Amino acid sequence: MQINSVSNILLRWYDNNKRDLPIRLTKDPYKIWISEIMLQQTQMKTAIPYYIRWIDKFPTLESVAKSKSDRILKLWEGLGYYRRCLNFHKASKIVIDKYDGRIPSDYESFKALPGVGEYTVGAVLSIAFGVALPAIDGNVNRVMSRFNGIKNLTKRNKDILYNCIVSLFNKSDPGDINQALMEIGALLCVPKNPLCNKCPLSNNCKAFKNGNPELYPTKIKRLPKPHFTVVTAIIWRKEKFYIQKRSQKKMLGGLWEFPGGKVEKGENLKNALIREIEEECHFTPDIIKKATSIVHAYSHFSITMHCYHCREKEKKILDQSSSNWITVNEISKYSFPKANHKIFNFMNKNDWNI
Ligand code: SF4
Repeated sequence: MQINSVSNILLRWYDNNKRDLPIRLTKDPYKIWISEIMLQQTQMKTAIPYYIRWIDKFPTLESVAKSKSDRILKLWEGLGYYRRCLNFHKASKIVIDKYDGRIPSDYESFKALPGVGEYTVGAVLSIAFGVALPAIDGNVNRVMSRFNGIKNLTKRNKDILYNCIVSLFNKSDPGDINQALMEIGALLCVPKNPLCNKCPLSNNCKAFKNGNPELYPTKIKRLPKPHFTVVTAIIWRKEKFYIQKRSQKKMLGGLWEFPGGKVEKGENLKNALIREIEEECHFTPDIIKKATSIVHAYSHFSITMHCYHCREKEKKILDQSSSNWITVNEISKYSFPKANHKIFNFMNKNDWNI
């Protein structure tokens, strides 16, 4: 295999076939960084509208650093994996304070920022600064596994794939080589029915020559996702209801929610609700009636959430900084998890009245 010619073939293909994506039309390290964070675990078509809105509201890293976390979470609402957003916020403050607003272009300093993993370092530093680092996400892993005819992604084999990308950089722009591999993984070398007849790598691809590219890389068997039953309360105080903010250390940290929690084994729904409200709000609610039930799937588990209208007895809930009483019309000022939005949608279509 002539590395030089493979690099040239890749770059020519990328030049002629790259998608016209707003995310790929910039060399601004800040914009590349936030786009790569948004694209983690998220499809391009989902991330793009979020990216456009984000850049409109926060045109510079400094504007992110100066913003309150509630405001940035509101813009992220619905994109999931909220830790990414909070980490980016923390990292933006570090860059402003420690690096005078200039995103560091060396591996060690950039990798030390919150939320920056191996893939992000490679993507941002190669695209923005031309640093010769591979950016290996799931798509690129699949392309390189097939290209090299390597099924099992052991540590040693991953090193072989990494070094293969490094060799492709040769004298070419590492950012363009990385992006070419990302595009091939997204558009051609898809998990099922890869479009090998359109692929610029087919002449040198071992899995294609073996006639069975779909078998590369070996799939890891995943355990079935657990399912939990959850109860929540819409606790009313006149025309307002109670919401609380999740701790930043928890999953969905920084988002607002109704109080409640998991039903324990053998517990009935109403008893579980009373226990949860007593634990979280330190009072016993009057349960009025069931509001609705929804099912929601998160990445690693799913839930059935049963939601009840409740009433507060004589202003028993202590108002804290991480809680609030809001009207239905104020919901849009806060960021909530998707499961809560399913409840809001149901209530909007039906009735908020007790
Ligand atoms: S030839 Fe087929 S299997 Fe090989 S990299 Fe291209 S799309 Fe993937």
